[in-house]
Amino acid sequence: MIRFAAHAVIPASVIAKLDKYAVSIRPKRWYGRSQAVLQFRDEILKQGKTIQKSFCAWCMLPLGEDGRRTIHRDHIAPKSIHPEWTFLAVNLVLSCEYCNGFSNKGDLPTVKTLSAKYEDCEFYVVHPYLDEVEVHIGFDKDDDDLPVVAVGKTEKGIWTILNLSLDSPGLTRERAKEVLYESRDHGLLPHNVEALVVQAVQGLGSRVL
Ligand SMILES: [Zn+2]
Repeated sequence: MIRFAAHAVIPASVIAKLDKYAVSIRPKRWYGRSQAVLQFRDEILKQGKTIQKSFCAWCMLPLGEDGRRTIHRDHIAPKSIHPEWTFLAVNLVLSCEYCNGFSNKGDLPTVKTLSAKYEDCEFYVVHPYLDEVEVHIGFDKDDDDLPVVAVGKTEKGIWTILNLSLDSPGLTRERAKEVLYESRDHGLLPHNVEALVVQAVQGLGSRVL
């Protein structure tokens, strides 16, 4: 994870329309086709891609066509528990289907101490807009000396890594591929290693090119 400098900015006219929905029906409205909802969802996606440089907010793997991972608009405080924040931009990030999926974040309670004002809540999870992420989560080097193993530095960091499985072997392996791929872009790898990395990232496995 890294801290994002900003969240999406939604036009005031759209917010005014969304605010008129009764809190209890907002999670259902999220899946509706009203103009305001579509506009809100579109802004979250469009601006989020730029703000997050198309990386998943949690695992930092590439989203969309580049990473072949479906992009989810992910409620940091789940809308099933906190319907009042269904249409609050600071409560939304883009994430991959794995991180937002049922086995990981899903409807996980992420708010420790509730406050009427969102920014005044205390969160269990490291918050991508409100927290200094690097205070809570660092990266250690793995056996191959790549800085890819997520390490919790605080209670919040440990909670986040544990509940979002950010240190799972599969994810660590994926991150290692990405780090190698980035290194390749900077011409740091020998040619034969580079070919293997390209193969791995493109998911070609052991198929001969
Ligand atoms: Zn992810």
